[in-house]
Amino acid sequence: MKVGVMALNVLKNLIKGPATIRYPYQPAKVTPVTRGHLVINIENCIFCGLCRMHCPADAIEVNKQERTWQLNQFQCIICGNCVSYCPKDCLSIKQTYLPPSASATYVTITGPEPETKENP
Ligand code: SF4
Ligand code: SF4
Repeated sequence: MKVGVMALNVLKNLIKGPATIRYPYQPAKVTPVTRGHLVINIENCIFCGLCRMHCPADAIEVNKQERTWQLNQFQCIICGNCVSYCPKDCLSIKQTYLPPSASATYVTITGPEPETKENP
């Protein structure tokens, strides 16, 4: 009896095909709760470091002097904590996945030079 049930399951699975997709050759399925990857709009960043302070995975480095914001994408767990603490709303989670990589990927973004006011 059990062999019969197993054979039926094997047959069903053979007909249905694989339950998984061949990512990255096929695009990943996106649902309303998909957490893809973190993105920054550096134009609005003031390099306050609040995102770094509230990151549970220690994935962000901020350098106010050099005006750089760096993310270790292998450490980021896409929890969204930094997004909610950013006072300038410059962080967001994009619902697409980054291409697979075999080594840690650091994204370093340098902000624009601050505008200097000329003396009248
Ligand atoms: S919290 Fe926002 S404004 Fe502050 S450093 Fe992070 S990204 Fe920039
Ligand atoms: S999404 Fe979470 S883990 Fe990723 S950088 Fe922001 S706070 Fe850190």
